[in-house]
Amino acid sequence: MSTDRVPSCDVWELSRRRGTVQGELAVSNAPRLAAALADAEGTLRYRLTGRVDELGRPAATLDMHGTVRARCDRCGGAVDLPIDEQAQFFFVADERQLDELPIDESAEEPLLGSRRFDLAALLEDQAILALPISPRHDRCAGPAEVDDKLAGETRRPFEALAALKKSRR
Ligand SMILES: [Zn+2]
Repeated sequence: MSTDRVPSCDVWELSRRRGTVQGELAVSNAPRLAAALADAEGTLRYRLTGRVDELGRPAATLDMHGTVRARCDRCGGAVDLPIDEQAQFFFVADERQLDELPIDESAEEPLLGSRRFDLAALLEDQAILALPISPRHDRCAGPAEVDDKLAGETRRPFEALAALKKSRR
């Protein structure tokens, strides 16, 4: 099991050089992600590739793959969830620029860039956003009659996820 921490990276340099950083994020090193899962098993492989977007902005593409283990919303058992995400970002230099950007629904998401960008936090956010609101087994043998009772208890953490999703758009 990988226990290496994800290093920070210089996103300006990454973009300029069209560089690539890659490695693994262990769920055990991602407490916010682990809290939304059944356990801290699993590893996500990532690759962040720097580029300059069509508008000349420093940008990057993130690929993330792996499997994590969530709690089935119906039976409460563990369910393996494949994560297979790609996301596009561009970087701005300060908070004010970030605030002044118009909200749009384009594929690229703005991020506050840095020479020591917290890549681990971005990976964790993206993994949390990739989780289904209500994870379930494809063929769940769980008792349907306790479904409503369980739902009240198990849905709450996922409301927080939904709120996070909204605030990121
Ligand atoms: Zn189930």
